[in-house]
Amino acid sequence: MAALARFTKSSSLSLSFSSIAKALYFYSSSSAAIAESNPYSQINNFTRKDPKDWNVQWVFLGCPGVGKGTYAGRLSKFLGVPHIATGDLVREELASSGPMSNQLAEIVNQGKLVSDEIIFNLLSKRLEAGEAKGESGFILDGFPRTVKQAEILEGVTDIDLVVNLKLREDVLLEKCLGRRICSQCGGNFNVASINVKGKNGNPDVSMAPLLPPSHCMSKLITRADDTEEVVKARLRVYNEKSQPVEDFYRSQGKLLEFDLPGGITESWPKLLEALNLDDCEEKQSAAA
Ligand code: ADP
Repeated sequence: MAALARFTKSSSLSLSFSSIAKALYFYSSSSAAIAESNPYSQINNFTRKDPKDWNVQWVFLGCPGVGKGTYAGRLSKFLGVPHIATGDLVREELASSGPMSNQLAEIVNQGKLVSDEIIFNLLSKRLEAGEAKGESGFILDGFPRTVKQAEILEGVTDIDLVVNLKLREDVLLEKCLGRRICSQCGGNFNVASINVKGKNGNPDVSMAPLLPPSHCMSKLITRADDTEEVVKARLRVYNEKSQPVEDFYRSQGKLLEFDLPGGITESWPKLLEALNLDDCEEKQSAAA
């Protein structure tokens, strides 16, 4: 538990969702310098025993296709905090055919990043809606994606831990091309069966497909931005704009690097172990 305790106890600052949302609105509409101290801060007590009471404020980083959504989603259920994926917020906005959707479609389908203003707006609305439902804590996925976004986030709240998921680039491309979504239930699946030989001293990588139940099979769709050309563009954008975010959090001692050893079956228990959550899972299964 030591590593996690270090991360959680060090996070003495915590904000209410509406404070974060208000601050993000403020930053999205102002060129003001990033606040060095946090006027809304309050002491948060992380010493309670049940992980569901920790109210973690975590961030998941990693290239397109690495599995941020899958692992952040599983951990959010495990820890009882919302999983907030800015990519999902963007896609919801696109699907709503609202005023921004045409402009957004053009950007997203070229693999480029949406403007900070739009992202902060979407995120602020999501945090406010969550607070109205009584949510607290979060696991962010797909945000921050630039150092500027990370600095702004740091100016309004204190992130406890940043998990950086890593996988070979050739595998990432195959995984993105294999991604499917059920148009009815929204479930995420992957039809790619990955078996690549190890190189440069790295081990072989095998990942079984994550197939949908039979009732979803005929309703599978592919994201418009999961074509080979757009995935390659997104990987380039990640290396240029998002990799520096890893350095930003590394220099703060918040980055936990995690090389995925394989598919979910192999990786999930190892991730829990890396987070020192494996004994919590045993307790939860024993209590169930
Ligand atoms: P990926 O599979 O590449 O991780 P996401 O589902 O996270 O994709 O995001 C899809 C698209 O939404 C991105 O390519 C980008 O256009 C936009 N997007 C999501 N999050 C952000 C963000 N924090 N800043 C800017 N654009 C974003």
